[in-house]
Amino acid sequence: MLNELEQFKEDTAMSLFGRSRHLAITGNQCVKCGAHNLEFRDELSRKEHSISGFCQSCQDDIFGPSDDCKDEVLGIAHQMFDEEE
Ligand SMILES: [Zn+2]
Repeated sequence: MLNELEQFKEDTAMSLFGRSRHLAITGNQCVKCGAHNLEFRDELSRKEHSISGFCQSCQDDIFGPSDDCKDEVLGIAHQMFDEEE
């Protein structure tokens, strides 16, 4: 069972990408493009997948190759998903 927050994230991913974020993350799949058996460049990228469900190339598309920029955009994305840390 999903709690309310998880359900909200799930609904957000569903409406944005037409795919389940939860299944993408647990199945090592990308919530955006549907790629699977994902490999990541570094721990930050791997962690990002565990939060947003994006594969490496979708992360690069969205956040750009620069890590500076990525940190900033990630902050916004994580607010959207209401990351707890
Ligand atoms: Zn992808």
